[in-house]
Amino acid sequence: MKKLGFLLFLFVFMWAAPNYGHAASAGAHIVLDGKQINVSGSAQPGIINGTTMVPFRVISENLGYKVDWKQENKTVQVFSGGTEIQLVIGSKSATVNGKRVTLNVAPVIRSGSALVPLRFIGEQMGVDVDWDGSTKTVTLVTRNSGPGNEGSTPPASGNDSTDGNAPSKGLALVNGISFSDNRMLITTTGTVKPNTFTMAGPDRLVIDLPNAAFSDTFGDSLPLNADHNGELAVTDSDNVSKIRYALFSDSPSTVRVVIDLNKVMGYKAYNEGVDLVIVDLTENSSEVTPPVGGDGKKVVVIDAGHGAKDPGASAGGGNNEKTFNLAMALKVEQILKQNPDLDVVMTRSDDTFLELKERVKVAENVNADVFVSIHANSAGSSAASGTETYYQRSSSKNLANTVHKHLVAATQLTNRGVRYGNFHVIRETSMPAVLLEVGYLSNSNDAAALFSEDFQNRVAQGIADGIEEYLGVN
Ligand SMILES: [Zn+2]
Repeated sequence: MKKLGFLLFLFVFMWAAPNYGHAASAGAHIVLDGKQINVSGSAQPGIINGTTMVPFRVISENLGYKVDWKQENKTVQVFSGGTEIQLVIGSKSATVNGKRVTLNVAPVIRSGSALVPLRFIGEQMGVDVDWDGSTKTVTLVTRNSGPGNEGSTPPASGNDSTDGNAPSKGLALVNGISFSDNRMLITTTGTVKPNTFTMAGPDRLVIDLPNAAFSDTFGDSLPLNADHNGELAVTDSDNVSKIRYALFSDSPSTVRVVIDLNKVMGYKAYNEGVDLVIVDLTENSSEVTPPVGGDGKKVVVIDAGHGAKDPGASAGGGNNEKTFNLAMALKVEQILKQNPDLDVVMTRSDDTFLELKERVKVAENVNADVFVSIHANSAGSSAASGTETYYQRSSSKNLANTVHKHLVAATQLTNRGVRYGNFHVIRETSMPAVLLEVGYLSNSNDAAALFSEDFQNRVAQGIADGIEEYLGVN
C-alpha cells in the first residue's frame, strides 16, 4: 500500500473541536498487521451505544490513506489509490467512491478525534477487523483489497503463462463458475483442494482455491476485470444474492470465491473427479464437510497460529512464527492421522490467513473434542526462553497439564509452566482448548532449535502424545 504524505495533513487534521467527554476507552490498543498503532493524541477505541468505535484518522493514516478534514461542514475525506471515502460527523450517510453507504452509527467527535464504527473500517477499507473487549484490543489485518471485496492482489505482470491454457508452474486453472439450485460448480484444469469457511456480517461462504489461477478463457464466459476480480449476480435464489471471485493472493496464487448469502447456511464442498469442485449449500447451518467425528471418533482441531499477511513473531533471518507454527501443525496432523480413533481438522494447511473467530468457528462447526493452537513466543528481552502452555477456561486445564507434560519433555527447553492466558481462540471455543508457546523466537538458542527438523519432529510427537493421552486414545 502506498504511503502518501501525511505530515502536512497532520497539522490540518488537528482541528479544534469541542471536547464532549473522555476517551472512549482508556488503555485500548489498535494492532494493524501485527504491529501496535500509536494512538496517543487520539481518542481511544471503545464501545459507544453498543457499537465498537475507532479513531478514523489514525487508522486511515496507517492504512496509507490521505486524510482531509473540512471544519465548515464537519466532513472527513480519505483517499488512497482509487478509493475515496467521505464521512460527515453526526450523519449515518457516507459515500464510498461516490456511492452512498449507510453506517449503523454516525461518526462522533471524542477528544478531538472522529470515531467511526469499526465495522465500517472493515467493510470499506479492505481490512479484516476484530474487537476483543476483555483486552480492549482492535485487530486490523489488511486484505490488500479494494472496497467491498474480499480482497484481490493484481498478479505480478510479466510472468504470465505463454503456453495457452495449460497449467503452469503446477497451478490449477479455474475455467468457470456457475450456480443453480443451491449448488455451485467450479470447473478447473487440474485438481484444487477447496478450503471453505463462513464469515458473518454479512453472511458469506468463502471458498479459497490454493495453488490456482484463472484460466485465459475464464473471462470469455464471466466478467473478469484487469485486477482479476469480478462477480456473478444470482437472481433466482432466495439464499444467495451474488457470487464474487478474485485472485486473492499472488504467492501462493489463490483464487477466492465468495458466495454472498441472504441467511446463515450450511455447506458441503468437495472434489468430483479431478476437474470439478462442488459446493452444496444446505439448510442445516451446522453441516460442514468433511463429515468428521463419525463412528465415535474424537475430533482434534489443530490451529497453526498466524499466516499469510500476519507473520507473527520474527526470529530474524526471514524466519517467522507463522512458518514454524504451520510446519509443526502439519507434523502433528501427520502423526494423529495414523490414529484410527481420531479425526484431525486443520484451521489452515498452508500459508493463508484466518481471523481468530474463523479459527474458533472451524472448531465449533466440527464439534471438536479438543482445540490445540500452536505458536512461538517473543519477548522484548532476548533472555526470555522456554516452553509455556496456556489455557483460559478451567475446563481446559486438564488438557493443558497433559499436553504440557509431553511438550516440555520434548522441547527440552526451560519449563515455564502451564499458565492462564486470555487468548481469543482458547476463550471463545467451547471445548477444551490450549495455546502452546513452544519456545521464544526472540531467544537465539530457542529460535535455532525451533527451526531444526529434529526438534520439530520430536515436539510434534510430544504434542500428539499429549493429545492422545488426554483423549484416552493412545
Ligand atoms: Zn503467535
